[in-house]
Amino acid sequence: MTTESECTTYQGCTLLPDEGCGDACILHYDSADKDAVLFQERLEAKIKHDESDLNMGEIDLKFVVFPVDASFTDKVFTKRASFTGAQFHGWASFTGVQFNCRANFLRTKFSGEADFSNVIFQGASDFSAAEFYSVADFTFVQFQGTARFERLEFYSVAHFWGAEFHDGANFVITQFHGVVDFTTAKFLSEANFRIAKINSEANFTDAEFHEETNFTGTTIEGTMRFHSTEFPNEGSDSRVLMQRLRLSNLQGLDFESVNLSRVSFLGTDVTQARFLSCDWATRAHPIFWPIPILQWFGKRKRVVVFDELMLDEREKEGHEPERRDILLIAEVCRRLRVNFEASRQEIEAGDFFIGQMDMRQRDPKASNFTKGPLFLYRVIAIYGEAYFRPFLWYLLLAPLFAVGYWWLSTATFGDGVFAALTAGRLFTEIPTGIESWEKLLVYVNMLANILFITVFVVALRRRFHR
Ligand SMILES: [Zn+2]
Repeated sequence: MTTESECTTYQGCTLLPDEGCGDACILHYDSADKDAVLFQERLEAKIKHDESDLNMGEIDLKFVVFPVDASFTDKVFTKRASFTGAQFHGWASFTGVQFNCRANFLRTKFSGEADFSNVIFQGASDFSAAEFYSVADFTFVQFQGTARFERLEFYSVAHFWGAEFHDGANFVITQFHGVVDFTTAKFLSEANFRIAKINSEANFTDAEFHEETNFTGTTIEGTMRFHSTEFPNEGSDSRVLMQRLRLSNLQGLDFESVNLSRVSFLGTDVTQARFLSCDWATRAHPIFWPIPILQWFGKRKRVVVFDELMLDEREKEGHEPERRDILLIAEVCRRLRVNFEASRQEIEAGDFFIGQMDMRQRDPKASNFTKGPLFLYRVIAIYGEAYFRPFLWYLLLAPLFAVGYWWLSTATFGDGVFAALTAGRLFTEIPTGIESWEKLLVYVNMLANILFITVFVVALRRRFHR
């Protein structure tokens, strides 16, 4: 056999050109219009040869052009299976196939339906840059090695129902033109959907993400649904990054009954998302902060965005927080507040407002003229979110002022309390003939009372307006 006479379409091919196929063998002859019977015969011989030849490290079906339906149903590939660059003009059935070693489908073109249902990939599988023009069925597939679906195009429906990804799932820069269904799929290791594009609908209902999950930069032009989806929870080290999602033509970004305590939405316009009965990260929020002794009276958990906790953690480790991060967190909080106000979830809306204002206070570029009043406002009424608190301050400080009056004048303590509580009424007359210290105390008392009552009214109004 001389080199010149071998099939020239694919360098690794040792077959002779077939009649009517130019200088190609019938396997590599790039046409759907070829002798299907002869093709099948040659294909089977080629597989048998590669399987039995000890020098062959793989079953080499690279660049093979399948003219009609191809069936590998329930076959066991004991060597690496290479379909790189292959073209399936008809239906491609791999259902029930077991790939004991690596499976390569790089740049493979599936013009008809591709059925990979119930396949077991024991090694890595690589579908990078493949093209699926019809239905791609990966239901109940076991990806025991790394699954790579990078930069590929699903032009039609893609089913990953019940699929299990044991060692990483990579869908980076992949485009889903049709509906993609990941219902009950399990991502047991990392899942990467960075810069993917969802043109129609992606469904992750009841799917499970166990480790680091990345949707950063993903474009959603249709809908993406996470209903009862399992994400890493508060005890985990893994994160779910939904940062900078591009939502230009969004029809729906739905989170229902999902734990979002480790999800980062930095840079994503979450005003457009829908959140229903989701769990957020929380932090203990002492009601009477900052008076430590009064913290015993009650603590409630404040809902926060995950990034706020991360910021604190990094700060504890000695990293100076970056202004950009602080501003991004403030932005997410503001968007979530707008979202929750619109959906009448007042408590969450209030909590995210507190988060937003806290970030304003932590902005390294904010002047003390901004920070000072903000700090005071937080102490008195948690930025107007707590109406009971200014009222409490009013009641708590009255005895202190009363002690002052009692000490500086001849008034009894009881009179002092009455004077303290009523200081600052409209048209109050400043008592004449009193010492200047007492006068000062009355002024301070008046100002404090006016401040507390004003803040109380503002907070109460906000509560009823939401
Ligand atoms: Zn060939």
